[in-house]
Amino acid sequence: MEKWQKLLAQSLTSPDKLAGKLGLEPGEMARVLEQYPARINPYLLGLISRSGPVWRQCVPDQKELKDGHGQTDPLKEEKYSPVKGLIHRYPDRVLLYVSNVCASYCRFCTRKRQIGFEYVTLKPKDFRAAIAYIKKHQRIRDVILSGGDPLMLEDRLIEKYLKALRSIGHVEIIRVDTRAVFSLPQRITPQLCRLLKKHQPLYLMTHFNHPKELTKEARAACRRLGDAGLVLGNQSVLLKGVNDDARTLKQLGEELLKVRVRPYYLYIPDAVKGTYHFRVPIRRALKIMRQLIGHTSGLAVPKLILDLEGGGGKLPLTPKYVVRKRGKEYTFRNFEDRKFTYHDV
Ligand code: SF4
Repeated sequence: MEKWQKLLAQSLTSPDKLAGKLGLEPGEMARVLEQYPARINPYLLGLISRSGPVWRQCVPDQKELKDGHGQTDPLKEEKYSPVKGLIHRYPDRVLLYVSNVCASYCRFCTRKRQIGFEYVTLKPKDFRAAIAYIKKHQRIRDVILSGGDPLMLEDRLIEKYLKALRSIGHVEIIRVDTRAVFSLPQRITPQLCRLLKKHQPLYLMTHFNHPKELTKEARAACRRLGDAGLVLGNQSVLLKGVNDDARTLKQLGEELLKVRVRPYYLYIPDAVKGTYHFRVPIRRALKIMRQLIGHTSGLAVPKLILDLEGGGGKLPLTPKYVVRKRGKEYTFRNFEDRKFTYHDV
């Protein structure tokens, strides 16, 4: 067993053990876990301080049960699934749901309905059907391996999936979405990096939400991935009480760049049942973006993204900079709140 597998095997998952370690009430913990599983490995446990950002994201909370808002599948992913495990929402890209397991179960997860209940990976026959579908649809040029966390699979299986996708001529790029660089950086072994390196162009999307998640171990994992030649991007979720302020996000963006990870998306939380306590209003999200844009390197600023309810797809949101338009004359408000006029052609 590799080190990361040993750490995973030592994860706290039962109400008694979780409540005991975290100083919480086991009965309350059990009620949340009946509906939404949790998993905290020893590395993650070391990052948790009471009510801190990692605690809020990983420790089960009674609020999850009291939430009367939201839906189980607000993005209607199931509607856009032509074969099991595949989501085809946009013409030229698909998402392949390869596993429902993660190194830790984020309390705000969009796929709260699916993750962690039992160990489920894509069955070989479903994988074959997904590959056949991608082969048949020649417009598909971008495939995202997602879940759950694809890096929770053994190297052998990851290699099998990547090889199969790489054998399809029209698949130009492959993306791997993973939260493990935060929750179990030990998973980013030199062998895994060698394996991923063989299947370029490969984009690896990390998921860090707070600068405190960028520990010495996580930074080293990012460096190993960067040294393997992967293009690294980060997707964050804007979470109330975790990172919903410009100072935290500015620091996160700047620290990510130091380890060659480019902030890519900052998601407005989806309206998922059991996650209302994390939701941030759009108005506030736009205000935060205004405090970021121009106040740090553009490279450190992610796009603010709203995934439309009902399966409408992703939409970038930007603060309003146009103050007035008269004919070909535009007046803009800049990042310092000063007005400037631009004469258009
Ligand atoms: S790692 Fe990703 S898929 Fe897994 S629980 Fe967290 S947000 Fe959801």
